[in-house]
Amino acid sequence: MKTINDFNFKDKKALVRVDFNVPQNADLKVTDNTRIEAVKPTIDKILNDGGSVILMTHLGRPKGKVSEEFSLKNIVSDVETVLGKPVQFCPDCLGEEADNMTKNLKPGEILLLENLRFYEGEENGDVAFAEKLSKYGDAYVNDAFGTAHRSHASTAIIAQFFSSTKFFGLLMAKELEAIDKVLKSGEKPITAILGGSKVSSKITIIENILPAVDHLIIGGGMAFTFIKALGGMIGNSLVEDDKIGLALEILEKAKNENVTIHLPVDAIIADGFSNNAATKEVDIFEIPDGWMGLDSGTRSRKLFNDVVMNSRTILWNGPIGVFEMSIFAAGTVALGDSIAEATKLGAFSLVGGGDSVSFVKQFGYEEKVSYVSTGGGAMLESLEGKELPGVQAINN
Ligand code: AMP
Repeated sequence: MKTINDFNFKDKKALVRVDFNVPQNADLKVTDNTRIEAVKPTIDKILNDGGSVILMTHLGRPKGKVSEEFSLKNIVSDVETVLGKPVQFCPDCLGEEADNMTKNLKPGEILLLENLRFYEGEENGDVAFAEKLSKYGDAYVNDAFGTAHRSHASTAIIAQFFSSTKFFGLLMAKELEAIDKVLKSGEKPITAILGGSKVSSKITIIENILPAVDHLIIGGGMAFTFIKALGGMIGNSLVEDDKIGLALEILEKAKNENVTIHLPVDAIIADGFSNNAATKEVDIFEIPDGWMGLDSGTRSRKLFNDVVMNSRTILWNGPIGVFEMSIFAAGTVALGDSIAEATKLGAFSLVGGGDSVSFVKQFGYEEKVSYVSTGGGAMLESLEGKELPGVQAINN
């Protein structure tokens, strides 16, 4: 993997694709600057070498039209605060002003170009648009993991104009290493924990990771399709009846691959999808009609804990209960505790993709696991085994 650590940026202008697609409130104030903080090490390294940095990003979905709402001028002060340095802003990512500002940029300086998606060429992967951008830099750095699954002008197409001076940023490198550890080079036993609502949305991931893992814990709403397939009574729990055959196939495939699948053995059931519902704990195979399983039960938590504590590499994607409602959060909290404890004892743990990332942030597990991915879609596509266009473009 060719990263920025393989290059000295002294007196070079680095064109760095970042993902500053940050959340903003109604007044356009940034509400979470995680994505800016995530690329600080890359920017610092280039500046410390004696280079300058031209930052390119998109924000929102302006669909090729200039708009105040999606202007990056609204985030410049946040970028300055996080980086602890002044940041110049160019109100157009192309044109005369951009030509001049990039030309006059001195070592140690940072320039942020206006939203790339104000031009249709960005999302269309337009080669001429990419080529114009490429003229601004001596080297191209991709540190936008959150957009690496898109074949856009600045995330993939542009790389062809930098045959020997294209590099992964340090965030990209960390994300790719984490995925590699889980799918290829991780210490065994390797355990994947998949939760969330639907089997259908996770099927490609399951198929791709089966050859790589030793244990697969299936929890959350998606477990009930498996329990029904095995002859259980699941009451009104979430189920995808058209995926029952597929669930049986997965169980069979796992056996052939020597992967142990762990399903919940009990559940916290409720008579309604609400924090005020009546609840009780029952065997997962004996959920009465009118009741639905919304969290894992005590015995399941213990079972999952035993598996996690015996693992050296752990991947977690998807909550194993409806943690958004406080009365159904305990199972996911118990799992978070187990993963935190295993990590403390030396296991590598990766939390990636969607709701489990929201969970670890909200419940304070971010510092207690080895790595929390910054890219939802990009992480999911990596786990599905796809090579991301943004990664391919640097590797080729
Ligand atoms: P996904 O987007 O497929 O990863 O699903 C995440 C959602 O699954 C979360 O919002 C959870 O509330 C939900 N979930 C977890 N367990 C269950 C369950 N037993 N029944 C229904 N939904 C669940």
